[in-house]
Amino acid sequence: MGEDLEKLKQRLPLLDYLRQQNWVARPAGNGREFVGLCPLHAEIGPSFYVNARKNLFYCHGCGQGGDLLRFVQLSRHLSFRQSLAYLEQHSAPPADPAAVLEQATTFYQQQLDRYPEALCYLKQRGLHDPGTIQELRIGYAPGGSLRRHLTAQGYSCDLLRRLGLINSHGHDAFYRRVIFPCCQHGRVINLYGRSIAKAFAHRFLPGSKGGLYAWEQVQQCPEVILVEGLFDYAALWQAGFRHLTCAFGTHLNAYQFRQLCDRPRTVYLTFDVDANGSGQQASQRLAQRLRAQGISTRRVLLPEGHDPNSFLIQGGDATQFQALLEAARP
Ligand SMILES: [Zn+2]
Repeated sequence: MGEDLEKLKQRLPLLDYLRQQNWVARPAGNGREFVGLCPLHAEIGPSFYVNARKNLFYCHGCGQGGDLLRFVQLSRHLSFRQSLAYLEQHSAPPADPAAVLEQATTFYQQQLDRYPEALCYLKQRGLHDPGTIQELRIGYAPGGSLRRHLTAQGYSCDLLRRLGLINSHGHDAFYRRVIFPCCQHGRVINLYGRSIAKAFAHRFLPGSKGGLYAWEQVQQCPEVILVEGLFDYAALWQAGFRHLTCAFGTHLNAYQFRQLCDRPRTVYLTFDVDANGSGQQASQRLAQRLRAQGISTRRVLLPEGHDPNSFLIQGGDATQFQALLEAARP
C-alpha cells in the first residue's frame, strides 16, 4: 500500500491535481512554490501554499497541511481509504484495451532476456536471431509479475480481468509462456502464449484474434505464404522470407478467408505434413475454396512429418525452402 501510494502521488502531482480542480496560483518566491486562495476555507487574501518539489501544501489561514491524499480527505470529506480509492480512479489511465496490451507486450519483451529457460526454449524451436525476436516483439511471461507491473501504472484489476490478463483469483493468466503479440492497424489486439512446458496447449486472450497474422504487411503482395503456426511464421521470417502470414491453425475464420480473397493473388499453402494427413486435407479443402473465389493456390509439400519450423530446425535452409515453393503445384 505504501509503495502504491508513492507511485500514485508521482503519477498525479498535487499541483496538477489542484489545477485540475481550478485552483489559481502564482509563484511564491523562488523554488517551486505557489500561492493562491485556500480551497479549504473562505478567505480574501491568498494563504494557501504548495511546494511542488516536496509535493505538499500548507495553509497559513486554517493551519491545514499535508500531501495530495490529505488534501482529498479534507476537501471531499473522505476517509483515508476512500480518498485513496477516489484518487486511484481519478488518476487511472484511460481504459483503452490496446494501450494495456501494448504495455503488457513491452513488459513481456523485457522479461525474455532475464529467463534462460525462455531463451533456451526459443533456441529449441530454432529461433536464435535477436533481430527476429525483436521485430516480432516476442516476449516471455514468467507469471506472477504482470499484474503488479500494470496496476502500478494505474490500470485497474477489473480491466486486466476483463482483458483476460489476470484470472478470477487475480493471478497472471500467462505463466511460463513465450508471448507473441497479434497486431491490427498498428495496435496490439491479442496475445498468443505458447507454454514452454509441453503439458499445456497454446492459448490466446479471450478477445478477438483479428484476422490473419501481420496481414497489413503482406496485403499488397501478389504472392503470400500461408502457414499454420506462429513458430512456422517466425522460423521463415528468420530465414529471410517476408511475404508471410499465419492463420493460427488450418481452419480460417470467415474474416481471414475474405482477407485472402480481397484481390487476385497466389497463396502458397504451407500446412503441416502430418502422418495422418489432416494438414494436407485441410490444405486441399482450402485450396478448392480459394480457387472458387478466383485465387490461385500452390500447395507446398514439405517432407513427411514436417512443418516449416521443424524443416528449418532440422537443417533445411532458405534455398531449400525456396525450392519447395518453386516446386509447389496447384
Ligand atoms: Zn486554509
